[in-house]
Amino acid sequence: MKADQTAQTALLDLQAQDALIAQLQHRKKTLPEIAQIAELEVKFKQLDGQRIEHDTAVSDLSRAQKKADAEVEQVKTRRTRDEERLNSGAISNPKDLSSLQHELVALERRIGTLEDEELEVMQKLEEAQARLRNAEGDLEVVRGELDRKKADRDAALTAIEQQLAGAEEERTSSAAALPTDLIALYDKIRSQYGVGAAALRARRCEGCRLELNGADLREIASAPEDEVLRCPECSRILVRTPESGL
Ligand SMILES: [Zn+2]
Repeated sequence: MKADQTAQTALLDLQAQDALIAQLQHRKKTLPEIAQIAELEVKFKQLDGQRIEHDTAVSDLSRAQKKADAEVEQVKTRRTRDEERLNSGAISNPKDLSSLQHELVALERRIGTLEDEELEVMQKLEEAQARLRNAEGDLEVVRGELDRKKADRDAALTAIEQQLAGAEEERTSSAAALPTDLIALYDKIRSQYGVGAAALRARRCEGCRLELNGADLREIASAPEDEVLRCPECSRILVRTPESGL
């Protein structure tokens, strides 16, 4: 393939633009915020699981407290009724009186037990409510961190996207100025090796970093200026420069 020296040298600029584009695309995918967000999302899920557990405990205990409350009320109602019967003087039979008094003592004891139980449930409920509030607070902190990280990530992405758009525009106009067969060869090699063209500097191919042997160098030195050369080691387009050392 033939291409004038200016076009061959311009390939090196195109290669630099392509390297910049690849670097920007890599940065987009490897932003530190991406990993940090993933980590925070795992943490958020764990904390939310804990919050749900505490929330369930609060609901269960609230229900238990209402039930205990109703039980106390029920026994107290019965006690009131018995007291009214006792005080009404309607019961004159000593045996009935004594059994009613016994029942009142039993009811009193029962109320005491139920109130102790109710108190215990209330304490547990308060503890569960405190745990729920803590979990909600922790969750809020992580949510805030997540929002901040996402905003940082989006800002970084927008900046990279802008740089990419500029780099791609430059790349398009650089490529448009080059012969189509040369660009086609360059793109084909680039898709295979990542780098399509490399400079020959100090007898070394800057694509594969290998120093060329004497015979290859003599061949390159004798090749016409407009001959498109390939590196004998890595097959990339090899562009001669004033520092080639030929
Ligand atoms: Zn090479």
